[in-house]
Amino acid sequence: GILKINETYDKPFVTGCLEPATEGPRASAAFVVLARNKELDGVIQSMKSIERHFNHWFHYPYVFLNDGEFNETFKATVKKYASSNIEFGQIDKSMWGFPDWANHEDAKEAIAKQGDRVIMYGGMESYHHMCRFYSGFFYKHPLLDKYKWYWRLEPDIKYFCDITYDPFMHMERNNKTYGFTIAVKELRETVPNLFRYASAYKRINKLPSTGLWNMFADRPEPPKVEEPTDLPEDVRKSQPAKRLPDIDGETMEGEKYNMCHFWSNFEIARLDFFRSKAYEDFFQMMDRSGGFWAERWGDAPVHSLAAGALLDTKDVHYFRDFGYRHTTIQHCPANAPGKQLKREPFYHPEDERRNKRIAKQDDAYWASYDTPKHNGVGCH
Ligand code: GDP
Ligand code: MN
Repeated sequence: GILKINETYDKPFVTGCLEPATEGPRASAAFVVLARNKELDGVIQSMKSIERHFNHWFHYPYVFLNDGEFNETFKATVKKYASSNIEFGQIDKSMWGFPDWANHEDAKEAIAKQGDRVIMYGGMESYHHMCRFYSGFFYKHPLLDKYKWYWRLEPDIKYFCDITYDPFMHMERNNKTYGFTIAVKELRETVPNLFRYASAYKRINKLPSTGLWNMFADRPEPPKVEEPTDLPEDVRKSQPAKRLPDIDGETMEGEKYNMCHFWSNFEIARLDFFRSKAYEDFFQMMDRSGGFWAERWGDAPVHSLAAGALLDTKDVHYFRDFGYRHTTIQHCPANAPGKQLKREPFYHPEDERRNKRIAKQDDAYWASYDTPKHNGVGCH
């Protein structure tokens, strides 16, 4: 007989997977990819993955940035894998490397010492520049001026699941500022003084402790300047982390960084958050401390603590439905019944009752909800 769509056979079983609805408006948005020529293979892998799982439906443009110059092979190859426009930009000296006001010799010496202490990437000058660029400059690059949103893409990442809706549009509709898919603990020895500065910034500007801030701040243990704990003892003793300069009006109020941060190799966010005066003040305070060289501050904890100081949980979206992998850490959305929220990824514009219920679930701490349970990684 003829196969009918009924209670026995569901629609995808009979007709195949459904294509997402892709008509409708697009956001002012682009993928941002910082890379070097030698990373071409990794870049291709990432592009294949995002095109297959998302962009061959939505066609968002790419902006490639590099402190050096992209060669012709890189540009020609990358174009072959994109279903959309690509722009290539070079990053000039005002956004990369040691600024004039810094003591370059001291900075280089501090970096060399971190290499001796086997701090991950600590001895690599270019890595420090990369982290500082992503902390305080990428959103000022002229090629991003025309965009309101960005989605960060790195070489050698993988998406597992089809993304069949437009996350930019959904974030916009639901008033979200920052989106993540993995939260992990930072390597303590890379950020010994970061939290002192972030929390002083918050105090100087009389910002309240939001739910998001509390995600990063442990209480009530008394504050102390810590030496790295996960290094061999002889290395630790030889060169303990130095305290960075004191900060105006500093008191720690019993708070301590719990090392949690959004893993920024995936990020979807509003550029105007970073372009705001508040974020610029935050970055300036961090930058002037010298911590981007004296320590190996990653852009991930910098973004996270800025979000903690300036945003609340309601402004942040956890893309728990995105299957994503970078190196050894991945987020794989679980289908385990009973554990997963039975919900669509976003609020429904017309369903007030459901929105209220979902909002309540979100308030009940999205960050601790399913990240650790289903990945084996997380902040809790
Ligand atoms: P990890 O993810 O922390 O291991 O660091 P990666 O090596 O992946 O670097 C993070 C991002 O910055 C990636 O997109 C790299 O391609 C990029 N990147 C790192 N260092 C440099 C650099 O010196 N120049 C350029 N142009 N890109 C860099
Ligand atoms: Mn990477």
